[in-house]
Amino acid sequence: MAIETLSSQQSAAWKDRVLPPVEKVAEGVWALPVPIPNNPLVYTYCYAIADGTGVVLIDPGWDGKDQYLALNSALNDLGFKVADIHGIAITHYHRDHIGLVPALLAKNPDAWVAMHGEDLRAIKRFYTNAVDLGTGIDPNLNIARAYGVPEGRWAEVESLQAGSSKGGSKSDSMDLYKQAMSQLPENIHVLDDGTELPLDEGRVTAMWTPGHTYGHSAFVRDEDKLFFSGDHVLPTITPNIGLDSGAITHSLGDYLRSLEKIGQLDEDVAVLPAHGFRFTGLHDRKVELVEHHHERLGEIRARMEATDDHSVYSIAAGLHWSRGFESLHNFNLFAALAETAAHMHYLGIDIGVGSLVGKD
Ligand SMILES: [Zn+2]
Repeated sequence: MAIETLSSQQSAAWKDRVLPPVEKVAEGVWALPVPIPNNPLVYTYCYAIADGTGVVLIDPGWDGKDQYLALNSALNDLGFKVADIHGIAITHYHRDHIGLVPALLAKNPDAWVAMHGEDLRAIKRFYTNAVDLGTGIDPNLNIARAYGVPEGRWAEVESLQAGSSKGGSKSDSMDLYKQAMSQLPENIHVLDDGTELPLDEGRVTAMWTPGHTYGHSAFVRDEDKLFFSGDHVLPTITPNIGLDSGAITHSLGDYLRSLEKIGQLDEDVAVLPAHGFRFTGLHDRKVELVEHHHERLGEIRARMEATDDHSVYSIAAGLHWSRGFESLHNFNLFAALAETAAHMHYLGIDIGVGSLVGKD
């Protein structure tokens, strides 16, 4: 089944990188775009699911006043108030997905929050800057040196290590955000594979899809074949693999297994991603994503043959990047190195961090 958009409005907005309108995507389900400041993704879809007497949100989006107002007014247009939010389910801990949670809980402390336990740990790591994840990663590991980054560029990479997800070390906004995240309630509803969300009405279950983050969870509503894919499957771009836990994980192996896992869903599910536009053709998209990573692995093998310098930096510099390796700086450089390292690690190549990397 070919990949086809389910919304010409969403596709057009994604193409033009502007905010799409709020749309009803199924009975009692709406896509509410929440803006991401200064980011080429432009917005995250927050999905609102009516559950009888109120509403449950999946991924409320980036934190900020404008974001809060956008979400609030979209909910009002649907006839809901923030006080009607029964709960908030999170696909993964990145700021463009979870950011608004503290502000919503401040207004509505009774709402439950649900996420996978591994991403809950990642949040704790994020605001304490302690890299653990139970994978034996040394928080003091110097990624730049291990990856063979030229000395003049160490600062670009080091400032982004250990717990940063998007945007790096800049600014008070990040400090405020970290502070807010450190105040998440202790009584999080911890999801595992197959856990049902505590809706008043209707049935939505979590599907553990590690890869983009270790605790990434997608959500499935079987009754009308909805697949809330988070960042696991997006229509036109590939999610970054390897950024999680300071860049050294088994993320590519996890990700490929998580792609196989979605093969168990019906081919004609409606895919409701966090970015881009909703579409059908999940199985074809899955094949494309698997192929993309296998091509990347082939490229890395070829580069290994072509050069004697097998550092992550050297290998990354020889790969194809959409705007060229030279254009990658700071976060983008770090993300490219992380992605390269994840692929090299998957191939069993030493990425310079020795025994600090756990076994796949
Ligand atoms: Zn995202």
